[in-house]
This record gives sequence, structure tokens and C-alpha cells, in this order.
Amino acid sequence: MGRVYNFSAGPAVLPEEVLAEAAAEMLDYRGVGMSVMEMSHRSKPFAEIIETAEADLRELIGIPDNYKVLFLQGGASQQFAAVPMNLMRNRVADYIITGSWAKKAWKEGKIYGDARAIASSEDETFSYIPDCSDLPISEDADYVYICENNTIYGTKFHTLPNTKGKDLVADVSSCFLSEPVDITKYAVMYGGAQKNIGPAGVVIDIIREDLITDDVLEGTPTMLKWKTQADADSLYNTPPAYGIYICGKVFKWLKDQGGLEAIGKRNEEKAAILYDYLDQSKLFKGTVRKEDRSLMNVPFVTGSDELDAAFVAEAKEAGLVNLKGHRSVGGMRASIYNAMPKAGVEKLVEFMDGFEKAHA
Ligand SMILES: *Cc1c(COP(=O)(O)O)cnc(C)c1O
Repeated sequence: MGRVYNFSAGPAVLPEEVLAEAAAEMLDYRGVGMSVMEMSHRSKPFAEIIETAEADLRELIGIPDNYKVLFLQGGASQQFAAVPMNLMRNRVADYIITGSWAKKAWKEGKIYGDARAIASSEDETFSYIPDCSDLPISEDADYVYICENNTIYGTKFHTLPNTKGKDLVADVSSCFLSEPVDITKYAVMYGGAQKNIGPAGVVIDIIREDLITDDVLEGTPTMLKWKTQADADSLYNTPPAYGIYICGKVFKWLKDQGGLEAIGKRNEEKAAILYDYLDQSKLFKGTVRKEDRSLMNVPFVTGSDELDAAFVAEAKEAGLVNLKGHRSVGGMRASIYNAMPKAGVEKLVEFMDGFEKAHA
């Protein structure tokens, strides 16, 4: 068997072109005589790698000059702490709880101040996005926090919450660069690279500049202070250099695909193939309210644990791997990130259809 169709939620599929290019440059990066893994992060070739990566990311999203881009370590989970440490000046923040990742961030926020859960969809296993048009936003809230795409449950905010003028902080780990985005609606947008961008080990923060100050919570570690990282252009200490290099290649790949407009259209087409099939299937059922469906993570069930297990096992045999759902939802989950080709989704639906006929 060659390369499989990998539906993992993360670390996840990367564009084959990117992997092939990295392989070709592995032993000798563009005549430097060594791999990117072996070079100094203060060297000229690496400076070019990180600067080009940032410039391409800025171009893809359309990031204005008053936003900083940081390439950091510690994963999205470390930002659960960095966000309150850098922003909770009044020690109050409002969290919208739409899944496990939002809940973890909220719990972390509570260590540092009065983190309030102002809306939640936990009553229905996070299968929908609560109405966020008129929330009880705290008057003294330092920020309003969302997890924009809920990787485990397969929901997405298709409309951002009305924050009543408060700064919006969004964890976009599993929908980063999946469609065009207006960054000016966010104060902070961040995400781990290992879902929709690159390899594990890099988290990307896009932060409005006025929020990067010395006025952080007492006891904030130097490394978690955004100002430390911003002042050093993400090179305060050794960055996740190889990961940043691969992210840079993915940004180039996205530009070659036509940018976020084109990739967004393709993601909609891909997701429609799967959702249209689910909507007419008599065996498989999507688990999420239609209007809140994610384009990236698609959970579905048969209603029978045995059939679910049989499906996952048989799909694996057919080269469709990592379809088992998260343990908190059960069933199946197909993550169909940017790098999943349309042919992979078509093959999945064809396989599901065959499975359904065999079990009718
Ligand atoms: C995977 C994930 C995380 C956790 O990421 P780490 O980099 O492992 O800390 C946080 N938020 C969302 C939305 C995720 O999908």
C-alpha cells in the first residue's frame, strides 16, 4: 500500500507536494550543505525561511501592519494560559463553551481570574453553536473567548459572536486558513499548526499590536509574555525551526492553489460531497445541527457500536484511515482539512455507500 487517505483530526494530512519538496531538500537545503534541522536559527538561510513564511501568511490572510505574527511552541494548549496572562488586566473574561477545547481554555482562565462561561452547548453534547447575538457580556470583560471550529464535535461558528465591543480571542486550530477571514474582527487569533497547516510543534498567534505590552499578570513567565516574543520576532529562544519551514511551504502551496478564496470554495465542495451523502443515507447520520456544521471535521454514526467498529476496520483495509470518532462522541469522524484531496472524500463516500448497501 502506498500513501493512504488520512482522515486524522491532527496531526493530519499534509500536501504531498510539500512533503516531496521537503524530502528533496532534506540532505542539502538549497546548496547550504545541510538540512534545515541542522542549521542555526540565527543563520541567513533560516532568517529567510521565517521571514518568507510570515510574509506569505500575511499575504494569504491579508493581515494589516497593526497585527503581529508569532511562531511559538507549546501548542494551542499553552495559549490557554498565555491568553489570560497577557490580557486579563481586569481579571475578567467571558468564555463561550462549545466543546472540550473551549472548556479547557475556560478552566485555565479561571486560574488567573474570573473566567465566566456566558454560553454553552454542553446540554446537547456540543452538537450546536449557541445563539451568540445577545449574550450577557461582562461590562469589565478583558476579552470574549471562542473556539471557532470544534475539532471533536464538528461544529463551527459561521457568524462570530456579538461581543458588544469587547476584544474577541479565537482558537482557530482546526479551521486556520480554511477560508477567507477578516482578521480585523479579532483581537487575537491563534492555532496549533498540526491540524490544518503543518507539523506538530508550532503554534501561530496573530495579535493586535496594542495588546502586546509589559502590562501582563504578575508572575507571567518571560517565555509566555507575548512582548518577549514579539520584540524578538519569534526568535527570543530557539524556535521550532523545522516546523516553521514546513508551515512556510504550506503557505506557498496555498498561494499556488489560488489563496484562501479558492481553498474555501474547494473546502465547501468537499464537505458538501460528504454531507449530501449523509443527509440521504439510511445508515449513517451526521451528529451536528445542519446550520453549525464544520467544513473541516465531520462526525457521523450508524447508531450501532458494532457497525461503527466494523466500518472503521473495513475502511482502514481500503486505505481510508483514522476514521474512528473521538472517544467523547463515539462513531466516526472524517477530518477533511485543506490538504485532503477531493478524490479522498469521493473515495470515502463511495466506500460508505458500499458499506451501507452491504448492511441494508
Ligand atoms: C488540537 C486542538 C487543541 C490542542 O492543541 P495542542 O497543540 O495539542 O495543544 C486546541 N484547540 C483546538 C481547537 C484543537 O483542535
